[in-house]
Amino acid sequence: MALKKVLTIAGSDTSAGAGMQADLKTFQEHDTYGMVALAAVVTMDPQTWAHDVTPLPLDLLDKQLNTAISIGPDAIKTGMLGSEEVIKRARQAYDESGSEIFVVDPVMVCKGEDEVLNPGNTEAMIKELLPKATVVTPNLFEAGQLSGLGKLTSIDDMKKAAEKIHELGAQYIVIKGGKALESDKAYDLYYDGQKHILLSTDKFQSSYNHGAGCTFAAATTANLANGETPEEAIKHAKAFVASAIKNGWKMNDFVGPVDHGASNRIEKIEVYTEEV
Ligand code: ADP
Repeated sequence: MALKKVLTIAGSDTSAGAGMQADLKTFQEHDTYGMVALAAVVTMDPQTWAHDVTPLPLDLLDKQLNTAISIGPDAIKTGMLGSEEVIKRARQAYDESGSEIFVVDPVMVCKGEDEVLNPGNTEAMIKELLPKATVVTPNLFEAGQLSGLGKLTSIDDMKKAAEKIHELGAQYIVIKGGKALESDKAYDLYYDGQKHILLSTDKFQSSYNHGAGCTFAAATTANLANGETPEEAIKHAKAFVASAIKNGWKMNDFVGPVDHGASNRIEKIEVYTEEV
């Protein structure tokens, strides 16, 4: 059987834990055929690890999107897009692709950097991406921005935010409590427009977790492309990323990436679910 083709429209993380590198590794671990249209390149200062985001020229992104769309992706994921113009292009590419799976990871900051990449991007994501999103995967901060509810600190807050984001047009929402929610477990909240399901795993070390968010969204995309329901796709993606985090490793004095292959190579992690 032919592999499902999965396209990421994202940035390159030169340290290769996050970004399109995380996406491609994760797609491969899920027996899908990963493809990339690159929007920007992120490099790090070797002395301080300060991030530098270099956008690629829009016409170069357009050429990549034309090529990728002509190949006929079965599913499309977005990662760090960086500007309103790129967000619009990603939406157009999805519309033109004929694909029916669109996973939006609404990346707003580079890990390690506190500054929102560009506030206008949030509006553009709401307008262009959410109405088309099969699944949207905000972390706590991003869910607060997209919902307009600001800082979220509890499961109840996450439920309210998920409902708001659903009203904005996203079909399925998973808000990652993950590392930001103060709790002994790693909680994520799934909402399908009717029921809220809380997914949890043990909370593992969080020093070496670079790329966790990208890996989770990429695994969700691949699982959907392989025919899983949104609920299964998200549950399995959480198991996959939990193993990747548990087995994260120190790369240098500044950063440690997840181990994208840990779930297949080292250990499976159990995910618990309950309706809340
Ligand atoms: P982002 O990188 O977008 O901020 P997170 O790292 O919070 O996202 O979450 C990505 C996924 O990893 C979520 O499923 C989250 O619950 C999970 N996760 C985050 N930190 C941990 C941890 N310390 N142990 C287990 N799972 C975690």
